[in-house]
Amino acid sequence: MEKLIYTFDEGRSGNKELLGGKGANLAEMTHLGLPVPEGFTITTECCMNYLADASFFEKQLKAEVLKAIQNLESETGKSFTSTENILLVSVRSGAVFSMPGMMDTILNLGLNDYRVQDFAKLTNVNFAYDCYRRLLQMFGDVVYGIHKEQFNVLLHQMEKSLNKKVTDFNEAEHVELIESYKNLFSKNKVAFPQDPMEQLFEATKAVFKSWNNQRAKVYRDLHNIPHHLGTAVNVQSMVFGNSGEESGTGVVFTRNPSVGDNKLFGEFLINAQGEDVVAGIRTPEPIESLQTILPEAYNDFIKHSHKLEQHYKDMQDIEFTIENGKLYILQTRNGKRTAKATLKIALDLAAEGLISKEEAIMRVSPEVIDQLIHPVFDTEKLTAVDAFATGLPASPGAATGSIVFTADKAKEYTALGKKVILVRQETSPEDIEGMVVSEAIVTSRGGMTSHAAVVARGMGTCCVTGCEALTVNESAKTVLCGNHTLTEGDMISVDGSTGSLYLGEIPTIVPENDQSLQQLLTWADECAELKVRANAETLQDLQTAIDFGATGIGLARTEHMFFGEERVLEMRRLILAKDEEEVQAALNKLLSFQQEDFYQMLKTVQDKPMVIRLLDPPMHEFLPHDANEIKSLADQLNRYPSAVEKQIEKLQETNPMLGHRGCRLGITEPLIYQMQVKAIFNSAIQLAKEGLTICPEIMVPLISENAELDYVKSFLTETIEATFKEHQMEPFPYEIGTMIELPRACIIADQLAENADFFSFGTNDLTQMTFGFSRDDIGKFINTYKEKQIMQQDPFQVLDQSGVGELIKLAVDKARQTKENMMIGICGEVGGNPESIAFFQQIGIDYVSCSPYRIPAARLAVAQAVLK
Ligand code: ADP
Ligand code: MG
Ligand code: MG
Repeated sequence: MEKLIYTFDEGRSGNKELLGGKGANLAEMTHLGLPVPEGFTITTECCMNYLADASFFEKQLKAEVLKAIQNLESETGKSFTSTENILLVSVRSGAVFSMPGMMDTILNLGLNDYRVQDFAKLTNVNFAYDCYRRLLQMFGDVVYGIHKEQFNVLLHQMEKSLNKKVTDFNEAEHVELIESYKNLFSKNKVAFPQDPMEQLFEATKAVFKSWNNQRAKVYRDLHNIPHHLGTAVNVQSMVFGNSGEESGTGVVFTRNPSVGDNKLFGEFLINAQGEDVVAGIRTPEPIESLQTILPEAYNDFIKHSHKLEQHYKDMQDIEFTIENGKLYILQTRNGKRTAKATLKIALDLAAEGLISKEEAIMRVSPEVIDQLIHPVFDTEKLTAVDAFATGLPASPGAATGSIVFTADKAKEYTALGKKVILVRQETSPEDIEGMVVSEAIVTSRGGMTSHAAVVARGMGTCCVTGCEALTVNESAKTVLCGNHTLTEGDMISVDGSTGSLYLGEIPTIVPENDQSLQQLLTWADECAELKVRANAETLQDLQTAIDFGATGIGLARTEHMFFGEERVLEMRRLILAKDEEEVQAALNKLLSFQQEDFYQMLKTVQDKPMVIRLLDPPMHEFLPHDANEIKSLADQLNRYPSAVEKQIEKLQETNPMLGHRGCRLGITEPLIYQMQVKAIFNSAIQLAKEGLTICPEIMVPLISENAELDYVKSFLTETIEATFKEHQMEPFPYEIGTMIELPRACIIADQLAENADFFSFGTNDLTQMTFGFSRDDIGKFINTYKEKQIMQQDPFQVLDQSGVGELIKLAVDKARQTKENMMIGICGEVGGNPESIAFFQQIGIDYVSCSPYRIPAARLAVAQAVLK
């Protein structure tokens, strides 16, 4: 039989799969000689065995747990039976990937009605009963699903009727409170087990089961954590942060998890236990104050936290407890952090020599980059308004939405397409589904390490905590702030970087491209092989793309240029023309529009390459369809509305996506493509005369047959040569390539390569045509497909490697047989997706092209594709 249980002496941090993150790190810290209370870890395999077959517990695990406890008893010199050396333990879940607050922990296990009296004799009554009360509450919650809050209600009732705090209760009063807790158990038709071993068994099973509770599942789905891993259970002898004024407990990050500064960041509470800090019940003190309150423990902490950071080579999130002045470390893990901090810490660690440049690149995920370039409030607009309340800036970002007070309401509103801000006293793990869909989270209580703060930072959601000026009344659905009362549905704006809340909606802007981001992306560019280009055609997008570091434009669509009011009229005139004269008139107008456009576009990108795609969509997209519009078009063209309507009807197609579009239009109506290349070359020649070196790249869409390309290319070349002649210009180099977006084009890629100067895969159409899924209709079934596990991902967002990817690979291989050095790019939506990028790297693509805002993330992803 494999080993079911490991003591902290036996494990190491490499054993995360088996011991879970918490257990593996407890073992590693023990190994490093840090003060960790003794204990052992029941493996994740036991969890999965138990969940598959509950009898595993009785038949195999129980005996091993008994042995492990006996071993712990002899190691600590304490026991579950002794009346003097009283062993109490914590039972702590710990999955492979940290899931903050997601699963459950029980403290002070081992107390019962009698042992609490012995314990009181050794310590004091108040302390002993405080521990026992907490045990009953946590045990009731974790093992029997009796909500924690129900116990708090009893506690508050009694405090009120006795008119004193629980810390001032006498023994009889404590016993009475315990009795009321036990009654709550009875009401739920369960009893609190008095035998410590029995408690341990039940607690262990409950932690195992918590792996499958709803909020844990949602969290795993959200973070792409597999469901088959299971959680380990750590059993650890207790140390007591609630044993007086020289005791306490805290949570500290070795660097600032919001902005990344290399300075301790954390909080502690004197005379408190366990989750008091994170639960946001009492407002904790900043870690620096510990230096004056308990200097020795503070100095030890500094020493140990430094050691941990050096050892793990990353920012650590450390949980500690001080018992009568002595420091214990109870947990360490790589700390969750904001996007901004992720970047800064990676660069700082590299500068400190702890990690290499390459490691720094790998430390930052492309999603982090996305967050860094996302909007903040327009500062000018901000000066005009006053914050109505301010809390702690727990997770940066800027968001506007309607107030909701419960997770359910948040889901309900967002299902209707509304943006929401979840406002609560404090959040708890049950709120996770509501937090996921919210634009921002605001709490009136809790610190920078409260549940809301940690979860929001992990998700990159804007969050303000501890906003004490707010009185949140969740049942009345109101929030009171000074003389304002806000109700459900009211709009507010939340600034997670300053902690400020504003009434109404405030416009956002995109932050400046900051220095550290530049630094990291420069490193990334140095090791990247794939180039990153942009899909852009408006001048603003072209400029944004260049500012974000695009090496060129992979796709400039020309159809967008026809949509301005003046232009679409000429386009309509062209499509509906009665005679040659009208055709020429419209073409001339369009030519002058396009010429000006191309001139500006080429001038904006300067010497960077730009692939210009000739007109792609079907004609009917340019035509009006409702009666009023048709009538006004008829007036403009001087026709009868009924005649125009008839013509439009004739142009209707049953499947326009599979219809008369792309090069098919170019072949039936060559005048349009001729006009387009003429416009391109008129402006390119003009710019060449002004001294720019330009090499236009013309792309023909929707080719499925070599003869199509042949035909289009020959009349394009003719027009281009004529244009050079007209300008009496010595021809300069240009390229004519094709989009590969039909399965047939992939299959005959070797032939097409003979005719084409370059290829660019249009993955949107190629995916659509390969699956036979219409991009516009996939929304009707893709979610069901995902739920039923028919498909894991939307193939329009993440490349379908085994189908569409295989076709692309085939085409690349064939093309390279014909023309070894042909330039091959990707210009669909998936070009900006990291997973897809890794695949493109493997099959030898030259560049990916994506929308301007995805460029920074793509630059990082192409570097990571090499380093992986
Ligand atoms: P989580 O995974 O939710 O952080 P933990 O297992 O870390 O749960 O437990 C929560 C808190 O309980 C810890 O931060 C610590 O303060 C307290 N705790 C856990 N084990 C012990 C122990 N052996 N002695 C004292 N306090 C403990
Ligand atoms: Mg913890
Ligand atoms: Mg296409």
